[in-house]
Amino acid sequence: MPMLADKVALVTGASSGIGRATARQFAREGARVVVAARRAGELDALVDEIRADGGEAVAVPGDVRSGTMAKQLVDTAVRRYGGLDIAFNNAATLGTAAPVADLSLEQWHETIETNLTSAFLAAKYQVPAMRARGGGSLIFTSSFVGWTAGFPGMAAYAASKAGVIGLTRVLAAEHGVHGIRVNALLPGGTDTAMNVANQPGAPAGLRGFLENLHALKRLAQPEEIAQSALYLASDASSFVTGVAMLVDGGVSICRT
Ligand code: NAP
Repeated sequence: MPMLADKVALVTGASSGIGRATARQFAREGARVVVAARRAGELDALVDEIRADGGEAVAVPGDVRSGTMAKQLVDTAVRRYGGLDIAFNNAATLGTAAPVADLSLEQWHETIETNLTSAFLAAKYQVPAMRARGGGSLIFTSSFVGWTAGFPGMAAYAASKAGVIGLTRVLAAEHGVHGIRVNALLPGGTDTAMNVANQPGAPAGLRGFLENLHALKRLAQPEEIAQSALYLASDASSFVTGVAMLVDGGVSICRT
C-alpha cells in the first residue's frame, strides 16, 4: 500500500531541489499534489513527469510572499482534489549575504517575508482546510543554520529559519487537538541551486570545505531530504509533532 494513498498534498518550492524531489516522492507514494513556485515552466515540466509516472499533480505558479497565493494553493487542493491533508512549506531564499551592519532593511525584509511570513500565511489558510478534513500534517523546511550553527553573513536567513521553528511549535500546540501534526525539517548542506557551493562565482574549495563540516563528509542529495519529508507527511510519524528534525549528515555535531 503506498504511504500516501488517497492523500492530497501541497508542496512549495517545487520548481527545483528539495521541493521538486519531495513532490515526486509524494506522488510516487500515491498523493495527488499541488506544486508551487514562481517558475511556471519548471512546474509544468514537473507535472508532466509526475503524470508520465502514473501520478497526479497540478501546478500553481506564484510568489509565496502573497496571501492571495497562499489561499489559492489551498483552494486548488480543495476544489480539484477535495481537500488538503499534507503541506510541505519549503520555498525559501538565501537572500543577500552581508554582515548585519551592511544589510539594508529592504534586504532583511525580503528574506524574512519569503522564508518566515510565507510560513505564517501558509498556515493561516492550510490549518482551516486540514481541520475540515479532521487532521493533517504541516511541514516547514527550516535549516541547521540558525539552529545549531551561525554562519557570518547569514543573519536574515538564520533568523527566518529559527523563526519557522518557533512558529512550528506554536502551531503544533494549537492544533494537536484537531489532529494536525506540525513539524520542522532541518536539512544539512544539500546539493541544490541554493547551496552556497553552487552559487555563481563560488570559490574553488568551498564545496570541499562544506562537505567536510558534515560527519558524513558529503552534501545530501535532495531525494534524501525528500525521504524525511515523506516520513513527516505519512502515518509513519503519527505521534511526532512540534519537533525540529535534523536531517543534517551530522553537521551539527561534527568537530573534526
Ligand atoms: P532551491 O533548489 O533553490 O529551491 C528553492 C525553491 O524555492 C525553488 O523552487 C524556488 O522556486 C522557490 N522560491 C524561492 N523564492 C520563492 C518565492 N518568493 N515564491 C515562491 N517560490 C519561491 O533550493 P533548496 O535547497 O531545494 O531549498 C529548499 C529548502 O531547503 C529551502 O527552505 C532552504 O532554505 C532549505 N535548505 C536548503 C539547504 C541547502 O543546503 N540547499 C540547507 C538547509 C535548508 P522559484 O525560483 O521558481 O520561485
